[in-house]
Amino acid sequence: MGGRLDRSPFLSDAATHPLLLRKKSHLSTLICNYYHKILFHSGPRSTAVNIQKKFWIPSIISILRGVISKCIPCHRLSAKPIQPKMADVLPERMQRTYPFASCAMEVHIPLKRAIFAIIPLIKLISLSSYVLRREPSI
Ligand SMILES: [Zn+2]
Repeated sequence: MGGRLDRSPFLSDAATHPLLLRKKSHLSTLICNYYHKILFHSGPRSTAVNIQKKFWIPSIISILRGVISKCIPCHRLSAKPIQPKMADVLPERMQRTYPFASCAMEVHIPLKRAIFAIIPLIKLISLSSYVLRREPSI
């Protein structure tokens, strides 16, 4: 292709005179696929900029979008996490109450050791609930 950049000292000969390829040729698709992979699965715009340093393909963005839509690693990386469907919260759980107003603990150790393990927790819980009850906001 001709252009006005022939005398540019910064551009290579391939950049000033890129090879013109047909839009619907298999070679264009292969070149787009190759550049997409060597550029670490980059997007269509940055891939197009790098391809157009050597080749000129009309409507290259649409070809690249087709290549990227068929690319399995890009499809896997762009997948959104599945949001689980959850039921509404029960009204009993939405009532305002003090912390640790109702709590439970499962113990899987012998009772004698459990009592010694639980006593400091009970002291901590009673102390924290005493501190929180003194606040007038609740
Ligand atoms: Zn990809």
